Amino acid sequence: MQRAELAVAYGQDPLRLVLELLESAGIASELSAGTHVLLKPNLVMAREASSGITTHPQLAEGVIRYLLDAGIRRITIAESSWTGGDTRKAFRVCGYESIAAKYGRFAVGLLDLKQDAVQTIPVQGTPFKVFRSVLEADYLINMPVLKGHGQTRLTCALKNLKGCIPDSEKRRYHAQGLHEPIALLNTIIRQDLVIVDGLCGDPVSEIGGDPLAMDRVILGKDPVLVDSYVAELMGYRPQMIEHIALAHRYGVGSMDTGSARIRELGNPRFQKIPRKDRSRLRRLQACISDRQACSACYGSTLYALQRLEESGKLANLRASICVGQGYRGVRMEGKGIGSCTRGLSSFVDGCPPTARSIYEFLESESGKRSDA
Ligand code: SF4
Repeated sequence: MQRAELAVAYGQDPLRLVLELLESAGIASELSAGTHVLLKPNLVMAREASSGITTHPQLAEGVIRYLLDAGIRRITIAESSWTGGDTRKAFRVCGYESIAAKYGRFAVGLLDLKQDAVQTIPVQGTPFKVFRSVLEADYLINMPVLKGHGQTRLTCALKNLKGCIPDSEKRRYHAQGLHEPIALLNTIIRQDLVIVDGLCGDPVSEIGGDPLAMDRVILGKDPVLVDSYVAELMGYRPQMIEHIALAHRYGVGSMDTGSARIRELGNPRFQKIPRKDRSRLRRLQACISDRQACSACYGSTLYALQRLEESGKLANLRASICVGQGYRGVRMEGKGIGSCTRGLSSFVDGCPPTARSIYEFLESESGKRSDA
């Protein structure tokens, strides 16, 4: 398969779709028996794939079967869930523990990257920290979910590599606005293959809540081209997504979908991803005053606000909820999420706080409002 090429398979059976794609692309010819293959799914949190948040386990299983048939005997599924997240729990809940048990005798293993050694690599004068196993693997298969994102509009191949860095780095990336460090990270880590789970993602939000059956799997070798294609499917020009444009500028890949060869297997129910009503997301985002918030704090706050709205308590919560590293050291009246907001008059502690504690805090604050 060439870098200027994409393949898309339509349907609902993850195993069949991914096997068709891998076979039609002749990926086995790029591998040899001794190749150590690392699969990087998106298991940002412990939620099943039907939530629209995480990579379908049968996609990973299809890849593993293909690799085993090709004679590969060293396969690692590696992930580091979002800041403060429990990757092992995500492996269990998302169905990856079962895969490892089923294929473990073939040397298929799980790696919680949060336990891995870290290597520091200077890029443009900044030290970037990356988990060593990702750098040492012979062949990296990135398996993101096609999703919208509250802070970056979309998340796919380029951003999924954020699961290859320690939590301290994830915080730094958020403090620097995400786009630039994500693009630079992609100059360090080379993705050999990208397999996008477009079966059931949430085109509005990375934390799910409104998943959409999109019935497709996308395969490519150039993460910039893959993300550009996905951006267009979602109704954006690739240039509108800053980390895509930056990655292109840094030489990671091409945004030129017009010149790419796109092979389609099967017929889509629909080509473009239908524009979903984003008014709810905007309404909830308007409740958040975000200053360099990490995904865990921001996402869990959005999730808590969704639940408050569903229980009819959101209207009581009139003041903005302050979230993010930009509140460190700030002393003021207000409600804050996370240890960064300790200077506010009212806050829930933790780095990050649990989703439950955020919900309980906001629920109690909304009660105070209505009692007033
Ligand atoms: S408390 Fe601050 S540093 Fe910790 S996860 Fe939340 S925003 Fe990030």
